[in-house]
Amino acid sequence: MKRTFCQICKCDCGIVAEVKNGKILRIEGDRENPNSRGKLCVKGKNSLDVLYHMDRLKKPLLNTGDKGSPKWKEISWDLALEITENKLGELKTRHGPESVAFLFGTTSRTLDTSLVRRFANVYGTPNVTQTWSICVGPKVLAYLATFGGPSYPTCDFANANFIILWGANPLVSYMHRYHGVVQDILKARRTKGASVVVVDPRESETARIGDFHLRIKPNSDFYLAMGMIQYLIDNDLYDHDFVREYTTGFNKLRESLGGYDLETVARKTDLPIEQIRQITERLAESRPASIDRREGILHSVNGLQTARAIAILMSLTGNVDVQGGLIFNPPIKLNNITLEERLPTGKKPFWGEQYPLASDGSGYLAEAILSDRPYPVRSVFVLESNPVLTLPNTKKVINALKKLEFVVVHDFFLTETCKFADLVLPACTFYEKSEVDVGLLKKVRWFRIRRKVVEALNESKSEAEFVRDLGIKMGYSNEFDFPTEDSMLRALLEGSDAERYSLGELEDGIYLEDLRPGYLRERGFNTPSGKIELVPSILRPFHDDLPHPVASPTESGKYPFLLITGPKVPPYYHSQFRNTQTLSKLNPVPCAEVGKGIAQKMEISHGDIIEIRTHVGRLNIKAAVKENMHPFTVSVPHGWADCNANVLTDDLITEPLSGAPMYRGIPCQVRKALEFP
Ligand code: SF4
Repeated sequence: MKRTFCQICKCDCGIVAEVKNGKILRIEGDRENPNSRGKLCVKGKNSLDVLYHMDRLKKPLLNTGDKGSPKWKEISWDLALEITENKLGELKTRHGPESVAFLFGTTSRTLDTSLVRRFANVYGTPNVTQTWSICVGPKVLAYLATFGGPSYPTCDFANANFIILWGANPLVSYMHRYHGVVQDILKARRTKGASVVVVDPRESETARIGDFHLRIKPNSDFYLAMGMIQYLIDNDLYDHDFVREYTTGFNKLRESLGGYDLETVARKTDLPIEQIRQITERLAESRPASIDRREGILHSVNGLQTARAIAILMSLTGNVDVQGGLIFNPPIKLNNITLEERLPTGKKPFWGEQYPLASDGSGYLAEAILSDRPYPVRSVFVLESNPVLTLPNTKKVINALKKLEFVVVHDFFLTETCKFADLVLPACTFYEKSEVDVGLLKKVRWFRIRRKVVEALNESKSEAEFVRDLGIKMGYSNEFDFPTEDSMLRALLEGSDAERYSLGELEDGIYLEDLRPGYLRERGFNTPSGKIELVPSILRPFHDDLPHPVASPTESGKYPFLLITGPKVPPYYHSQFRNTQTLSKLNPVPCAEVGKGIAQKMEISHGDIIEIRTHVGRLNIKAAVKENMHPFTVSVPHGWADCNANVLTDDLITEPLSGAPMYRGIPCQVRKALEFP
């Protein structure tokens, strides 16, 4: 039996694998993993179906046809590396090294990303982007500004008396990230009588088990959070001692409030006044309380401001750095092996001027390529990512990919994005490569490494191995002197708390010192003032220190309803696994959830094929009419190749500082369609 961990989503659930003659016979959840505690979701349980899938890419493929209508020719890795080396040399001479960009998907982790960043820095491009801006960016910025960095707060649900799940659906998404989230919530309910409030326009799986469901209008969460703040302050329900002792900016915040009275907020959010009042009073009186806020609130132009307002709510009620509230457990700090000092200073990434606080720019990639601003981007390396399905504005993404001179895709399967590639390279699944679980956003501070469980199938390579081999080919032998994956792991561990352990010991995992609740309050938060900044100084230069709504398109005559894209559906992870039989049979057909207000007005019945239109595009999809969702909202899952939600989304309507695109609350029209698709 070999212990490892799943790398599909960032829960890193522990797996025990039975291996015989180099083949994994079966797997089960690892009960000794202190965070996942033996649990695996349906994706993890069926992960061998991906490893041994007959359609896995076996050899590098060269496109001898056209972009969009490829003809594939199998070639050797040697030739693939030679073609890449020549092309990179040529691009550097003609357009400069910054004309080359690397785009990761969400599954790539520390070892792979570190090696790719190292390659990019040595080559001379700052353009390495992951999915921060289309995922957690607004939340990370909000917490960094308010609580200081590195800021990775999680909710201590098991010890909470009151729980708000805001735009969060842990029954389906990231269920084991900080322990079994749902198990902890149920425990708090059982042992402490905790109430659970779910704020979500959809009747999500989690909303069905909550005590209260606030069916909020999409993209109005900011108003709800600000209404709760104003109500707490106006009615003297906030924690005076906590605010005085541990925060700055309270007076400025209080003076700036106005316009968030319950009547206005009820109108903006489509929620009953009494419900807002009741929830706010319960939050104030039920200490400790936890508010989990996830991507449901982040993917809109108000994502950063909403996350900030929720951070303020937690602070005003004294629920930060306390047991049962927000707790901080930073991941282990590993050696930075990216050679960032090799990148010439002053080189800004392609998103740097547009979104100065963003740490990546995937949502802006198509615009940068098509506009040549701030400079030409002529090549993209797509690493376990499927931008044709996952980035906003599919038509534009395809046009951008077609314009590029050299597109390399490194993946397990021939994805939709591969159609626009010049070169496709076979990638390793997590069973075939090493990685580290740094303990990011985990409740127990625990660190472990993973070494490959089986040898890479066919000719697959990890991203780290690919760029190492490319680096050597390009003459960077000194920088890529990593003959084995173990040597890469050792380089990462150098100087860290884990350095003194053998790799064998680290495969079993080590416990790190827990930062007990209260640690930051005693020692000081890592903000410029050392306190929780309700009016953050780092946002002052951007005139964003006081919370404010961001202007965005609203419903109108032509587009009278609101669209949500991207709610998670259980067997899939973004665009992955539709080709995996065991998983796809659990949810074979994409469906749009349609609020009953739309259904009545447009005479739509359950099972009808509907057409959804936005100012960007249109999509036909099967309707599932829902009684208990916001009545004038339609919700479409993403990641389907033949029913792609991103034909409806706009890449240029974004949150101003992080660049998060508006995936939620898009004005739309919905009507019955005649045929499908
Ligand atoms: S929640 Fe599922 S997909 Fe995510 S790491 Fe755990 S088993 Fe894997």
